[in-house]
Amino acid sequence: MEKKFVYADNAATTKVSKEVLDAMLPYFTEHYGNASSIYEMGRYAQKCIEQARETIANCIGCKPTELFFTSCGSESDNWAIKSTCERLALRGKKHIVTSVFEHHAVLHTCQALEKQGFEVTYVPIDEFGYVNPQDVADAIREDTAIVSIMFANNEIGTIQPIEEIAKICKEKKVLFHTDAVQAIGHVDINVKDLGIDMLSISGHKIHAQKGIGALYVKSGVPLLNFIHGGAQERNKRAGTENVPAIMGFAKAMEVACTNISERMSKITAKRNRLIDGLLTIPKSRLNGGRDNRLAGNCNVSIEGIEGESLLLMLDHYGICASSGSACTSGSLDPSHVLLALGLKHEVAHGSLRLSIDDSTSDDDIDYILEVVPKVVKRLREMSPVWEDMVKADPSLKY
Ligand SMILES: *Cc1c(COP(=O)(O)O)cnc(C)c1O
Repeated sequence: MEKKFVYADNAATTKVSKEVLDAMLPYFTEHYGNASSIYEMGRYAQKCIEQARETIANCIGCKPTELFFTSCGSESDNWAIKSTCERLALRGKKHIVTSVFEHHAVLHTCQALEKQGFEVTYVPIDEFGYVNPQDVADAIREDTAIVSIMFANNEIGTIQPIEEIAKICKEKKVLFHTDAVQAIGHVDINVKDLGIDMLSISGHKIHAQKGIGALYVKSGVPLLNFIHGGAQERNKRAGTENVPAIMGFAKAMEVACTNISERMSKITAKRNRLIDGLLTIPKSRLNGGRDNRLAGNCNVSIEGIEGESLLLMLDHYGICASSGSACTSGSLDPSHVLLALGLKHEVAHGSLRLSIDDSTSDDDIDYILEVVPKVVKRLREMSPVWEDMVKADPSLKY
């Protein structure tokens, strides 16, 4: 077998595309003016930023004035939640509704607010990885300041019933924020049609560079200043604008939000072949439902092995993937997302996330399907857990 390089971790980050890089380059060495400067080069930078803002606003169906550039998706999440909570706490609203399987940018923000006296209700997910809108409705109280439910989950790719949740929030007159970092460019998103009040996006998950994001805030929703200083971003977020990153982000959004359904159906076909191939491994399961799932997301648990060991072996074969265990972050606990699905610790530990994109070829899928079962077999041969499983059920052979 010939060794290949297969990047299958697009949910972690993506490669900057050629067209994005080309869109950025002139802003490093040619049009490098400070957008706040009075002379022509500064005014030009300002004009370009506003064009980029308009491009991105068009992609999500909002007005340019409703869009604020940030440094990343995490900042957008922090800003939306902290600003709303700080503001509404003054009116006695000190309750947050979110879900158990949010990205840490939302979860840890909520936990920080809990330390400041906020109460948080974490709505559950079902065994397939979906939030039930009724649970959100039931969780909302008189003193709820904000509801924050992610558009699509980063680990298991499940796409949430955002329109229904937004409708409930509107009826109950509570602001609704959604972390759409994984969903953008993979799902058609129009914030007006969906009734979303605040939405977070990030560049590096859609082939722009790391370190650029945006927050949409519906006009009329007050937003507190996040970074104090200069007058950038309509006085809400100080700091000299990262013009090349903004230009690249706009290009990436333009590309990612074009022909979504056509592109996604191609990726889905490859993804399904990947899932079906991996599920031929005995004692494996798909995490998260297959319908309403991000096209490129495959997340399986394989019993009797350790996710980290699997990743190291895959790396040896040139495959970049990710696991549901969080050992790298200094914690031995398996992913909160997989546990929220109801997986046992030992099953969650043997998880593998492969996230493919437009550039993943059929050969890449074949290669993954050749390597993973082979590696799993090797790891199981060394695994005392698997030995016990075979003792308990001698029909298990792998
Ligand atoms: C990657 C990610 C983030 C964080 O975005 P950064 O730009 O890396 O800060 C937030 N939420 C979700 C769902 C993500 O996948």
